[in-house]
Amino acid sequence: MKIGGFYSDSISNGVGWRAVLFVSGCPHHCLGCHNQESWDKDYGEPYVEDDIYNQMMENPFLDGLTLSGGEPFLYCQELFSLVKRVKATGLNIWSYTGFTFEELLRWAERNADVQQFLQEVDVLVDGKFLIEKMIPKKRFRGSSNQRIIDVQASLKKQEVVLYMA
Ligand code: SF4
Repeated sequence: MKIGGFYSDSISNGVGWRAVLFVSGCPHHCLGCHNQESWDKDYGEPYVEDDIYNQMMENPFLDGLTLSGGEPFLYCQELFSLVKRVKATGLNIWSYTGFTFEELLRWAERNADVQQFLQEVDVLVDGKFLIEKMIPKKRFRGSSNQRIIDVQASLKKQEVVLYMA
């Protein structure tokens, strides 16, 4: 797995002060994507879990980690250990995905890695970026089809519970 970038502090990729990890590889190819270099799974540097974790632990003010890309759900197995370690420190996990929450639930039924990973995600910003539904300057999402979802409440209810409209 390769990563296209890592920010150890950001306030624009989720609520609070966050680290942001951009994974490489995306199958969605949304028209108007601002991060097209991330479509290539070989773009960037090798992922080293300890490097990311250690950089995060150097910042005592972080609220959490945001996974972006690229498509984080291509790497549920690879990211699981980092996500578990980060959550064990009391920080939260946001993830962007080009899949819808419903697609991820169906995938999780036949893939234990996806199921296990979803159990650790607190907030999901789901769906492809659709240029015809673009909403400039909307917090945390690029098009109106995308939803900001409370994952744990949604898993419990087995239907989408929005974290933020
Ligand atoms: S899902 Fe995200 S990274 Fe992938 S093509 Fe769409 S906007 Fe770009």
